[in-house]
Order: sequence, then C-alpha cells, then structure tokens
Amino acid sequence: MFRSLFLRVFVLWALSVTTLPLRAMDTPLPDPTTIVTDRIPHDTGDRLLGVPVVSALDLKSLSPGRHLFYVRVGARNTGDPVHVPVIILKGEKPGPKLALAAGIHGDELNGIAVIHRLTARLDTDSLAGILVAVPGINRPGMIANNRHFVGSTGGGFMVDLNRSLPGRTKGGGPAGLYAGTVWKRIFKGRFDLAIDLHTQTRGLEYPLFVFADFDNPQAESLARALMPDIIKKDAGENGTLETTLLASGVPAVTFEIGAPKRFQETLVSRAIAGVENVMRLRGMIAGTVVYAEKQPVIGTHYSNIYTKTGGIAVIHVALLEAVAKGQHVATLYDPFGREIERYTAPHAGAVLALATDPLREPGSMLVRILK
Ligand SMILES: [Zn+2]
Repeated sequence: MFRSLFLRVFVLWALSVTTLPLRAMDTPLPDPTTIVTDRIPHDTGDRLLGVPVVSALDLKSLSPGRHLFYVRVGARNTGDPVHVPVIILKGEKPGPKLALAAGIHGDELNGIAVIHRLTARLDTDSLAGILVAVPGINRPGMIANNRHFVGSTGGGFMVDLNRSLPGRTKGGGPAGLYAGTVWKRIFKGRFDLAIDLHTQTRGLEYPLFVFADFDNPQAESLARALMPDIIKKDAGENGTLETTLLASGVPAVTFEIGAPKRFQETLVSRAIAGVENVMRLRGMIAGTVVYAEKQPVIGTHYSNIYTKTGGIAVIHVALLEAVAKGQHVATLYDPFGREIERYTAPHAGAVLALATDPLREPGSMLVRILK
C-alpha cells in the first residue's frame, strides 16, 4: 500500500517536471507586433513611463496632435527589450514629413536639447505636416557614455552605428541588426526631408556646421536655411543616416552642433532657430524665411593636422578664425613642459574644429582647417 502510493506520487511528480518545460517551450510566445489596439497603430500593448510602446511608426493613421512613443528596436543579452523614444507632432493641416534625429552617436547630446525645446514650443494647431523627432537613437551607446554602439558579444565590442545603415533585419551582427531595425521601424519610407543632429567627437569641438550634398539642391537649401557658421559640400560616407536617406530619395543633411557630452546654450538656441527656419522654408510653420547677416563659410575640402607623437597640446587658434598658410596653430609639449613640436596650417582657410582635450595620442587631431 505504502509502496504503491509512493510510486503513484513519484510518477505524477516525474510527469510534471518532464512535461511542463516541454509544454512551455512548445507554446509559441505571442508576437508583440500582432497586438494592435484601435487607437494606436502597431501598439504592443506595453506602456513605459506612461508612454505606449509600438513596434513601428505609422504616421498616416495617426490622429493630429502631440504623440509620444517608445519604438521597440531590439533586446539586450538579458532579454530585456530596448526602446527608442519618439516625439511626433502631427499638424492639423497637410504638409511635409520632417525627421529630426539625435544621438545616433551616443555621446553627442546638443541635439537632444534642440528636440526637447523645439517640440515643447511648437503648436500642432498651426502646424502643417508632421515633425518626427528622435531624441536618442543609440540607446546602448548613451547608456555606456560612448559614441559607438556598445555590444556585449565576445566580451564587448564597439561599432559606429552611423556607418552601419541601412543595416539588416535578419542575421548578421548585433550593431547591423540594431541599425536595420531602427531604419525599418522609424525612418524607412516615411519622410520628405531630414536633419540628423550631431556634435564633434570627445576631445574636439565644432562651431555650428553642416555637411551637405550640394548635388541634391534640396539638401543645399536645407543647409543654407539652417544658418550655420560653416557648410562643407560633401557627398557623405556610406552607412550614415544622411546618405542612407539621400539614397532612398529623402533630402537630408548632417547638422553638427558644437561639442559632445554637454548642452551649449548659444549653439542649441541657434540650431533651434535654424530648424524653425527650415520648417518655414517648407511651409510647415508660418513666417518669412530668414538668413543670417553673416553668410556661412562654404568649403569643399578640409585638412586635419594630426600629432606625430603623443603629448600635451596648446592650441593657438579659435574656432572660425581665418588662418594663413604656414601659420603656427598648435604646440605639443612633453610631460615636463618642454616643447616637442610646432604645428602649422598646410593652407589658408577657416578653423572648422579644434582639440579641447590637451592630452593627445600620436595620430590624433589638433586642428581641422576648411578651404
Ligand atoms: Zn556624430
């Protein structure tokens, strides 16, 4: 009696531990992209900080007004999902669809201030068209305080997300997959024009500066309306958000705003004025298009002056300063303050970027001169 009861309990226990995990594995998980509510297209049903989590942007079926979304773009190695925040202002009137992106480089933050302040003051009642602002594309890079996409595979790695577009949505490495998912779910096929907000990289500084492909007349007019200090005519590098948008038929420019890891009030205010000017140019907001009294310096090439060895740099020129060929622009010192080398301008031009971090590795930039 005792033995048969024990046997029965044992068999029931054995069945439960062998069948339960199998049942859990066999049952397909619900696909979050198939859960759609009436009001919000591609709603996953999840809410974070009170904001709906969507699996993709659908600008067409969205009602006019102000919308906040998290777009699900992937997951960490722990299985926790990763979301990109998006602010959408849909006007009451029809008009162009403008993308304003920031933080594809995770330590370039001035663009986030531009987006937060601009979207807070625009009124959708008088807006024509749609502004889609993305204040921070590269979530893994932002968390790691890094320019690059920072992954964990193989003990950790870094990839420039702004050389990885349009990426992939299947297979391949984590950065390509992240880039491909961001491209497909947020940008691809949705816009009439775009501005990608950046800054110089860590240890360097830009003024207000636009990379623009002048072969595209609309990109040129965008660049001029942004009222920067400097424009470089530039076809752009493969894999950037700008060139990927251009290749898909969307006029786009890369807008560089000062230095990374800080909010620079004057430059942020000027960048907001520039984006509003673009919106006037395209009829999205009322008002006359204005151009700065001081015309931007426009160039086609620049030279980077690199250190030949490591040391402590003193820079002798300022941003936007006009320099002559052969002008002494920087001096490098050893750890005891003894001069190692003087650096001179290889040609005349305007100072486009300079080192803000005095500690310079061999082969790192001191000054960039546009001509
Ligand atoms: Zn950048």
